[in-house]
Amino acid sequence: MFTSPHFKPVKLTGRNLSKDDISGCGCFENTEKNADKLPAGTQTYWGIPFDCGEKFVYVNETRNALTLDFESFSARYIIFLHASETPEQPSDEFGIVKNFRGPTPLMEPICDYVIKYADGSKAEIPIRSRMEINDMNTWWGQGAFLSKPHIRGRSFKTATDDIYSGRKAEAGWGNSQTLVHSEGSWDLSQSIFAFENPEPQKAVTGMEITRKKGNVFLFAVTAGDISAHPLRYGSRQKALLALGGSPNDTFDLIDIDLGHIISVTPQQIYANAEWEQSGPEENPKKAEGKYIVEFDAHEDAVLYLGEARAPLAFKELSKNPGMGVKPAEKPVRLRVCDKSGRPVPVKVHAHGAAGEYLPPKNRHRLPNPYWFEDYSTDYTRGGHWCTYIDGTAEYNLPEGSVFFEVSKGFELKPVRQKFEITPETDEITIKLDPLTDWRAKGWVTADTHVHFLSPQTALLEGEAEGVNVVNLLASQWGELFTNIGDFTGAGETKTPDGEYMVRVGTENRQHILGHISLLGYEGAMILPLTTGGPDESAQGDPVELTLTQWAKQCRLQNGLVILPHFPNPRAENAAAIVSEFIDGVEVTKLGAPGIGPQYLSDWYRYLNCGYQIAAIGGTDKMSAGTAVGEMRTYAKIDGPLCYQTWKEAVIAKRTFVTSGALVDMNIEGHGMGGSLNLGSGGGTLNVMWDIASAVIPISSLELVINGETAEVLRFDGLIGEKSGYFTADIKESSWIALRVRGRFENRPEVITAHTSAVFVIVDGKPVFSAPDAATILDQIEGATAYLKIMGTKAQESKFKLALAALEGAHRALHNKMHASGHFHSHTPEDMHKEHK
Ligand SMILES: [Zn+2]
Ligand SMILES: [Zn+2]
Repeated sequence: MFTSPHFKPVKLTGRNLSKDDISGCGCFENTEKNADKLPAGTQTYWGIPFDCGEKFVYVNETRNALTLDFESFSARYIIFLHASETPEQPSDEFGIVKNFRGPTPLMEPICDYVIKYADGSKAEIPIRSRMEINDMNTWWGQGAFLSKPHIRGRSFKTATDDIYSGRKAEAGWGNSQTLVHSEGSWDLSQSIFAFENPEPQKAVTGMEITRKKGNVFLFAVTAGDISAHPLRYGSRQKALLALGGSPNDTFDLIDIDLGHIISVTPQQIYANAEWEQSGPEENPKKAEGKYIVEFDAHEDAVLYLGEARAPLAFKELSKNPGMGVKPAEKPVRLRVCDKSGRPVPVKVHAHGAAGEYLPPKNRHRLPNPYWFEDYSTDYTRGGHWCTYIDGTAEYNLPEGSVFFEVSKGFELKPVRQKFEITPETDEITIKLDPLTDWRAKGWVTADTHVHFLSPQTALLEGEAEGVNVVNLLASQWGELFTNIGDFTGAGETKTPDGEYMVRVGTENRQHILGHISLLGYEGAMILPLTTGGPDESAQGDPVELTLTQWAKQCRLQNGLVILPHFPNPRAENAAAIVSEFIDGVEVTKLGAPGIGPQYLSDWYRYLNCGYQIAAIGGTDKMSAGTAVGEMRTYAKIDGPLCYQTWKEAVIAKRTFVTSGALVDMNIEGHGMGGSLNLGSGGGTLNVMWDIASAVIPISSLELVINGETAEVLRFDGLIGEKSGYFTADIKESSWIALRVRGRFENRPEVITAHTSAVFVIVDGKPVFSAPDAATILDQIEGATAYLKIMGTKAQESKFKLALAALEGAHRALHNKMHASGHFHSHTPEDMHKEHK
């Protein structure tokens, strides 16, 4: 810790108690117990140096007056490092105290300090408990009014940050999220009392201590020539400082003597000059070696910058315009409204001229992006920070330019707007004007996979992201159970108009066999939530159920069954699909931007084998680093919106999945999820399409037949809406879908949307691909082998049922294969009797 140059420890004589003599000196038991923690030698507290010598000054009943001689000094402040031992008030047999003055009686006169000047004059300072002095160990909530604990409060990083940087965590996980240590220490605190010297010109030569009603330890006296109370700092502020380097611990890059460093965040460089024209997907750039430093400081403080610790007086900071970050002190209300002027929930970001993040007053100033660590309503995309609001928010903003960004789902072009804040600005308004409205056409958006949020927070984030239906999934993670109390097995948390809702389901998981999302089912929770040991289940948990059985149970309870983050874990989900218990396969952004090729490669196999499973999008949101609905499902409902009509739309596979673009398809009157029949010889079909995008520029639209790209239409970064049609020549039974690609400027092209398939049956023959079926059988066989030989075995009866579920699935597909005249080679796991 840096020591302020404004202070000088006072050399004093008259110390009367050595550490070795503590026991038996008559001090309190706790003092004696913690004697080795009493300060000795040279110490710095609050940036103030103290010379605590080798002995203490101690005044109690047996030593009730003492004279100390100082090496003479003159100073504006005389600072005492000391602590009291205050006798408790007497209590009755029940512990009740009359005229109670607190556990450490408030304002008990401990002693008097009498300052002696060289000219013979004196100044008397009454030393009272919880005022000029406090006891070494006080109860919570008994802080002193005129002195401070010797340990200064401190900001630090989360335990996770510490662990990731290879450091020892400064606090446990929960406490570390507050990012601050409080002042003092629980065992033993000393007090620092800064006495404003009424005769700052006169030489001080010593002091007398006269005991009154308590004991006092005086450890050190320091002279301070400083302009204002040395323990009172100004309020929090920011500066833009070049600190060089980019070590893991940004706190290592700066220090301050009289103040606190609160946070050190790499500066984000935004396109402020063309803010209103810039694209919202553009991430700010991290400035090299420049940081937004938040701190508080005494007016005489010195900051020490960079690894070289170059001193910079706090007073110089304001003279250096490049370092200034305007204080955010002007209260301003933000209103975000729809066309009718009604406030609407949105995701909002704001920053000031230096790129400093400006959150509403009640939102995280330093959002935490880690797993299971932040269920606040914040969102982080690298260094770009946002939060969710209900349409209004209270800010403190800097005067001058501020830069807002507001987004709300995929049908509205995100708004970037610049405001000039003046002393007269009380309110700013952002008006939203959606580019398209697919809800009016019967489309409903959903995220099938969100964890950890409370239902009410999920509802706010869902509405702010334009997601009508959020499926919040309770689950188990080793010995951790999440959202269990939010599960009701009935009903949703909804907005009053019923347009947005959150339903709690479960994600049931096994680390080898796979995960399965059971959505919106009725009645009791389907258990166990996880099986078969880590890393999903806890150590030693047997494999009690397979995905296939979980799925079947969910169907019995009127739920939807979705394979989450498909295709992984890539194992038994094959059996659940073949058993026809699966409504949809969910793509998330995990592992790939947009809709990844693995997802499509795996899903197409099932379509090729005649399993018409819906395309579903979800996020698996587990931290503030993912936004609800970043990948989402559009489903076309029949009738008014409620959870049931949404479920029915998914069951009917009237869905597409998207990370931005919208796509609809109609083949001769059949929409997604439909099927039509053609006579022998097939025919030519018109595939009508509608596409739209408000967020990601569309670069191409592809007609996909049986997994092959049949036709491609290119677009020059389409933002807007378009319609047209393809013609498809169908000769044999096939499935047809549409795929939309898009690309943000300077980014790779991604598949941003994909429809569910329409099946075309020619001459009554099913769609079937033997090579794909063989790969599906492999998965079922692998899963069966695992269950038989490796998985922690459950009770025999449960084990047999689990095995039967897999064998049933195998038989179903295998028979289908043989029925269609295909033969396949058998693995050692599959020497079934038909072939022996
Ligand atoms: Zn999962
Ligand atoms: Zn999950």
